[in-house]
Amino acid sequence: MGIAGESVAVVGAGIGGLSLAYQLKKQGKPVTVFEAAAEAGGKIKTLHLDGFELDLGPVSCAETATLKQLLADLHLEQEVIAAKSAVSKRYIFSGGTIHAIEPSPLKLLMHPMLSWSGRLGLLRDVFIKPEAEQTHSDETVAQFVRRHFGEEAHQKLFNPVLNGIYAGDSEALSISSTLAMVKTLAGTYGSVIKGLRAEKGKLNMSRKIIGIKGGFIRVVEALQEELGADLHLATAVKKITPSENGVKLSLHTNEGEQERFFDKVYLALPSYACADLLADIDAQMASALKQIRYPKVWQIYCEAETSDQVFDGFGFLVPAMERKSLLGAICITNLFPDKAPAGKTLFALFCGGDRPYAFEPSVEQAVKEFHSILKPSLLKVLHVQEWSEAIPQFYVGHKKLLQSLKAWEARYPAIFFAGNYVSGVSLGDCVEYGLKINSEKGSVEVR
Ligand SMILES: Cc1cc2nc3c(=O)[nH]c(=O)nc-3n(C[C@H](O)[C@H](O)[C@H](O)COP(=O)(O)OP(=O)(O)OC[C@H]3O[C@@H](n4cnc5c(N)ncnc54)[C@H](O)[C@@H]3O)c2cc1C
Repeated sequence: MGIAGESVAVVGAGIGGLSLAYQLKKQGKPVTVFEAAAEAGGKIKTLHLDGFELDLGPVSCAETATLKQLLADLHLEQEVIAAKSAVSKRYIFSGGTIHAIEPSPLKLLMHPMLSWSGRLGLLRDVFIKPEAEQTHSDETVAQFVRRHFGEEAHQKLFNPVLNGIYAGDSEALSISSTLAMVKTLAGTYGSVIKGLRAEKGKLNMSRKIIGIKGGFIRVVEALQEELGADLHLATAVKKITPSENGVKLSLHTNEGEQERFFDKVYLALPSYACADLLADIDAQMASALKQIRYPKVWQIYCEAETSDQVFDGFGFLVPAMERKSLLGAICITNLFPDKAPAGKTLFALFCGGDRPYAFEPSVEQAVKEFHSILKPSLLKVLHVQEWSEAIPQFYVGHKKLLQSLKAWEARYPAIFFAGNYVSGVSLGDCVEYGLKINSEKGSVEVR
């Protein structure tokens, strides 16, 4: 069948699969989406409770050009809410208290959170030459940061940032896959600080942070509406069988088992779900996909009254060295005041994540820790959302795995990998994948 009329299936109706299917449909391709759950959205849910609007999963995101375009196409521009200025004020917990952090090397050099030897460690970076840097291939964030800024900067600054984005362990995450811009600057200039100064005009360091009135579920609902009857909920793909002309999908629905044939299939799934589908075709690739770790994270929504000390920032992050259940907290109403009834303060706490030591996090403990840090006069838990497999961890070697997936796609030209372990985890990255689809090749380049 020719490109224009080829039939395409997208497996998985998270934001990645839905936005990809929407773009394919816009290109005129007959597209069918299969989602195992009874609802679309995957990691995106919104709960309305006693006048609070709780975004479960993503609570805010950076507005990229592609995301902005998608929201415009879906007529959701009016629903976009720009985060208040508190967004630029971020804190890190260290030594029993929270410290405001400004991402300026000069200000960090004088920061009271760092000891004198920690401050001196920051200066290592400016002496690193590009030739020396190029001898280092991919390494962990911890190894990279220790070489450039010293151990204290790693533990107190970089580790909590990785906790905030990935709920991840900087001792295992790959610098190239998680902080690609930092690694690229180092490759070119040797010193990250010199690179930042040289590229200041070109780097987009202050993207607008947005939320959606009614919650991110509105984006899911709008995409769902566009796809109409082409989206099949409660329909799990149990098996994929590649053939010469395309792919056979074995489906499990409430009505029983079915088989459908497609010219192309996009697997917009978590890697472990993808691995199950690949097990009979390529056990080795299936095993590699299963090894991507997705740690458990709890999102705890709380109403807090901070009458004595009003918290004025986006939130605070907790370094792994503090050995707390709490990964960090975001003051939702400092960003989006309308997400709570007037006069009420809403926090999202995060608990769990990936750690460099044996660790049993507890929701109860995380709430106690939050209380001891901000000392609110009232703290009421509104909702606890458990994400048993929250966010994929891009360990050292992740780029190699993505390259082998590309090689795999060349061997099986009707099957493509999507999902946030391929595109990147932010909503912007997930949506970008769908928009970048190259209609000739039907696939996008590895990041
Ligand atoms: C707690 C948390 C907080 C986050 N915060 C932010 C944030 O503030 N900002 C931000 O930008 N990003 C954030 N993210 C990341 C972002 O939400 C995710 O990266 C994104 O939603 C993942 O989308 P996806 O489509 O790749 O995968 P998913 O949402 O996981 O969707 C995959 C879908 O595939 C379906 N599926 C699985 N197996 C099958 C099968 N066999 N057949 C059919 N369907 C199947 C699943 O049911 C699911 O619906 C957060 C994530 C979490 C968990």
